[in-house]
Amino acid sequence: MIPGPIEFEPAVLQALGAPTVSHTAPGFIDLFGNCLRMMKKVWECPDGQAFIMAGSGTLAMDMAGANLIEPGDKALVISTGYFGERFAELLKRYGAQVKILRAEAGKTVPESEIEDALRDEKFKLMTFTHVDTSTAVRVDPRLIGALGKKYDVLTVLDGVCSVGGEEMRQSGWDIDVALTASQKAIGVPPGLALLVASQRAMDAWKSRKVPVSNYYCDWSNWLPIMRAYEQGRPSYFGTPAVNLIAALEVSLRLILEEGMENRITRHKELASEFRYAMADLGLRMLPGRESDAANTLSAIYFPKGVAGSDFLTSMAKSDVIVAPGLLPSLKTEYFRVGHMGAVNRSDIVSTVAAVEKALEQLKK
Ligand SMILES: *Cc1c(COP(=O)(O)O)cnc(C)c1O
Repeated sequence: MIPGPIEFEPAVLQALGAPTVSHTAPGFIDLFGNCLRMMKKVWECPDGQAFIMAGSGTLAMDMAGANLIEPGDKALVISTGYFGERFAELLKRYGAQVKILRAEAGKTVPESEIEDALRDEKFKLMTFTHVDTSTAVRVDPRLIGALGKKYDVLTVLDGVCSVGGEEMRQSGWDIDVALTASQKAIGVPPGLALLVASQRAMDAWKSRKVPVSNYYCDWSNWLPIMRAYEQGRPSYFGTPAVNLIAALEVSLRLILEEGMENRITRHKELASEFRYAMADLGLRMLPGRESDAANTLSAIYFPKGVAGSDFLTSMAKSDVIVAPGLLPSLKTEYFRVGHMGAVNRSDIVSTVAAVEKALEQLKK
């Protein structure tokens, strides 16, 4: 029950373990093309450009930064935790002048504060973390998308802990880049960086004055490859992660068969059942408001007088593995439970039972 890598569907693992075919084999060309097309459905960005690369979620963040930032560009980072800080550091490497707006732990940055920053200075791009995995706080992309449109600023959504588990309407919300990794709510073992860029983002990249300084991430290298596979032709820049892409094709198919609306409802229901049970046990959530709490994971404070390490050991004895805290300032004060992807009601029930048992044992 950790927030990634999650548990995977047997059919996904079966595809991963199938004999490896050539990246130019006709069957693989179909798979790759299907993945690119299905991503645009899951992201709800029909006229976007999808990219699939071998790497983790951080590589998807790097791809966004490398292609959209030129030295001296101003970038606004809206940070709700650990991964916002990472985006700020990353953008600086490409020469961005970064302003960072930090939320208090467990809260979001107030809309008025973001708007004030946009009014004061002209930014080229702003990033935000849809669900920050360190705090379990979810940001409403509608607000950021609308501000991006109003102030003509590109919007980049870090959806590594949201895409496939939270509502996602990239076009409808005017989000320019939405990126994720395979191992979280998309439901595929670690190793794929996934990104969908709007036409506005692609235009911003095309009108760059300075070449992209990161060779591997440069869209000049990858755009022709993605286009070729979408059109049913093989093409080569770097060998694609053939088996992971086969597994991704199965997982995206399962996601679309379940239906995005059903999938989001399932995540929402299981998340609120879990939080309700935690509240019933007298435990407090890190997100201050229920409306800011993510559906893909929860962050729960340890009760007073209970040592976190003892609690996690006790949970493991019930065969339920949860994750420790991640936000540096509060690291030892809370734990995290992932409930995304193939998660079901019995997983939630077992986790709640393990928490209850741990509390009983530690209070003795
Ligand atoms: C996990 C995560 C990342 C980093 O992804 P890696 O695959 O570990 O590189 C970035 N942002 C968020 C919100 C995440 O949850």
